[in-house]
Amino acid sequence: MTGAPVNLVAGSVNPCKMCMPMGAATALCGVQNCMTILHGSQGCATYIRRHMATHFNEPVDIASSSLTEQGTVFGGEENLRRGLHNLMTLYHPDIIGIATTCLAETIGEDVAAMAEQFGRDNPGAGVTLVPISAPGYGGTQNEGFFRALRALTKQLAADTAPHGGVNVVTPQISPADTRWLKGFLEACGLTYTLLPDLSDNLDGVAAVRYDRLKHGGTPMDGIAAMAGAACTWEFSEFLDDEESPGFFLQERFGVPLVRLPLPVGLRAMDRWLEQIRAAGGTPADAVRSERGRYLDAMVDGHKYCAKARAAVFGEPDFVKAVVSLCCENGIVPSVVATGSACPALPAHVEAEAAACAENVFARPPVVLTGCDFADIEDACRRAEVNLMIGNSDGRRIAGALGIELIRCAFPIHDRVGGQRVRVLGFEGSLSLLDQAANAMLKRTEERFREEAYEAYFRGGENHVVSH
Ligand code: SF4
Repeated sequence: MTGAPVNLVAGSVNPCKMCMPMGAATALCGVQNCMTILHGSQGCATYIRRHMATHFNEPVDIASSSLTEQGTVFGGEENLRRGLHNLMTLYHPDIIGIATTCLAETIGEDVAAMAEQFGRDNPGAGVTLVPISAPGYGGTQNEGFFRALRALTKQLAADTAPHGGVNVVTPQISPADTRWLKGFLEACGLTYTLLPDLSDNLDGVAAVRYDRLKHGGTPMDGIAAMAGAACTWEFSEFLDDEESPGFFLQERFGVPLVRLPLPVGLRAMDRWLEQIRAAGGTPADAVRSERGRYLDAMVDGHKYCAKARAAVFGEPDFVKAVVSLCCENGIVPSVVATGSACPALPAHVEAEAAACAENVFARPPVVLTGCDFADIEDACRRAEVNLMIGNSDGRRIAGALGIELIRCAFPIHDRVGGQRVRVLGFEGSLSLLDQAANAMLKRTEERFREEAYEAYFRGGENHVVSH
């Protein structure tokens, strides 16, 4: 065969992403008295429940319209209607997100029309239905997450008198980081609406009685009032305008939109603090000490971090934030990878990562988008990375290469505490930085004798001659 080599990818290669309904279901968990139903086959809901329950260590209820062969051929509206009635009877939610799946989208189900019809047929139902188009093959969980937020905002935000609060829209962050974010905003004296708020619903307290419906999360009237806010801070730099809740609020209600990187590391936190001051907030005195402690940790860890050649992988905003932290600490992000088709990522990270590599005479970094774990492993081997930072799906590569994996993003399946991982703010950044420095220390402790023996005794041009 002649011609250019064809880049064939086996169907069984491990993807570096999850599907859109996963993200939609997660975002809906951050809304008060909200339930999710997936319009599709049962397996979708089972897969997503299992993924979320293992990471968050919480019971996760997600309903399914359970499309069978009959519904697939003749349409699934009747299944969906029965599912909605069951949900209302068993859970009594105020709001139900209806997310489509691969199957529903492929057979052309018009979920928005079905939701409208259901509302007309059940006028006293007292529940708000929010249809969300989320074909599994249409993107990653990150896009599904924001689709759900955009759909919620579009449906619920309503003309409101200006109230001076701020809207804060985040990509998926841990419940512990969400709690920190809320406390931080309150300590700055700001009134705010956080969308979504995963802090309680996906990291609950031990309770004597199990309540099926989660009562934490962003209230519906809070989402309605987002239309009257002074501004929206959207912690995502990679959203298309048509997927952005903040852009919708700006276009429809004139709420100014400020897109920010996730507040990870010194520069991103400082940038956000400027925004906070501009919005009339006053960072608490403790922030100065937290910043100082982070700077101290940078000094403490720099000689260990300088040895790190890291692979950073996951969703674009997480990757960008961690690359930024790496670069300001001399950790060379040798492989930067996302499973998302995100053409904007290279422009955001390449120059900084290359400069970081050049400082320590390391190879130029590789940035991969739309990749799977086979691509990442290949790049890691070529770049001789000695550290991975991402989610637990990278553990097989880390195991094969004999290197440490810092688990700090969704999903984490092989450890408990995924819901309590911190990366935001000076303290979260410090925790991540210490983990990176300690991974390098561990590596040195475990290997220095063997490496010295190989380099100076057994071989190489510079070996010590024995007598
Ligand atoms: S990829 Fe498609 S079929 Fe698979 S779980 Fe996601 S929505 Fe369902």
